[in-house]
Amino acid sequence: MKINPVFNNYNIVNFKANTKNSKNNNVAEKKYSLIKCFKEKENLTEKYGIIPDEVKVVSSENIQISDEEKALLIEKILESHELAKKNYNFGNIARISFATNIGLADGSWYLGTNFNNTRNDISSICGERTAIVGAYNKLLKSRSLKESSSTPLNFKVKYLAMANHKDIGTDKNGASPCAECLSWLNTQRYFDNDTTIASLEKNKNGKYSLRLNTIGQYLPYRNEVNYVLDKPCEELDIKISKNALEVAALKKMKKEDFLKIAKQTKKLYKENQLANVSGQNIAAIVIANGETFTGQKIDFSKRWFMEPALYAASKAIEKYGNDTKIDCICYSGNSLYTDTYGAFHNDGVVSIKTLGFLETKYADRNTLVISSDNDSINVRTIDDYLPQKFKFHQTYEIK
Ligand SMILES: [Zn+2]
Repeated sequence: MKINPVFNNYNIVNFKANTKNSKNNNVAEKKYSLIKCFKEKENLTEKYGIIPDEVKVVSSENIQISDEEKALLIEKILESHELAKKNYNFGNIARISFATNIGLADGSWYLGTNFNNTRNDISSICGERTAIVGAYNKLLKSRSLKESSSTPLNFKVKYLAMANHKDIGTDKNGASPCAECLSWLNTQRYFDNDTTIASLEKNKNGKYSLRLNTIGQYLPYRNEVNYVLDKPCEELDIKISKNALEVAALKKMKKEDFLKIAKQTKKLYKENQLANVSGQNIAAIVIANGETFTGQKIDFSKRWFMEPALYAASKAIEKYGNDTKIDCICYSGNSLYTDTYGAFHNDGVVSIKTLGFLETKYADRNTLVISSDNDSINVRTIDDYLPQKFKFHQTYEIK
């Protein structure tokens, strides 16, 4: 990683002086302006020289939209692009800026960009997630207090119109959610399989295409419910995906091996005493460099916890460093829960965020992922969970 040469006395003294609370600041400067600025709405398609009628809709799922919807999506993508550019110019700490326009089922839209206040994830969030939270708040605000207790909010995201600050349509990553955002989209309540990611692509001939992909394509297993049953693992079927079958043959792994790993992980799950606050227990086993590493979910609070597969993988990484090679990740856990109103929700057990993190360096698209549902032990690959063609390449630098 590129480290900025900040560690000299001059910079440190200046930094301290700038961050000190000063009583001499002009009071007017400290107050927020309450004056709204109304600007005439720009015609963005004209500004960028895009003629919606000439834009081809590209979708491997053959998604049909009207000309009106097409023009609207193009405009929403361009709004995202403009916001991302502003965010970049303003000094976002990442050397790239993304923005997303969230379209809800009721026809309303909300725009958000990434917020990187530091170089680490403590105060960083992507455009997709800021827009989702903003859209949720906007919808909630539109309801009266009385309605909020009697009528469901029906917060359903239909579109994510995405772009980054780079020349419109030139960067494929402009519309590829990262593993953290995908882990949000992997949840059931506010997103459906047909929630669509829309982006613009500039073709070699200078013309534009409107790319539409559903999140069902990005996350083929997003609806899966995981179980740990009392009945022995031996009584479950072992279902191996096509990709996993090829990898298993190369690694010389057989059904008995998967059964053994699943049994070990289930035992770890049963023994875990540390997931005692959130109501969800998960255990994971990571096989790296021919060795088995274990991880149990550790709850710090209802929503803060140690993700067990990342925990197990970190033990392997600590031991083998850059030579760590993760062959297999096995999960054991229950994903269903009921909320305070008694409605069922699916929390997920296989962490998309962890698979995405590990796939960048210590695992790869052929790493096997084992989980179980109500009648089978499922053996797949990371590529099955996060198809390579939709992979976000997190290669950007930090300012
Ligand atoms: Zn993201």
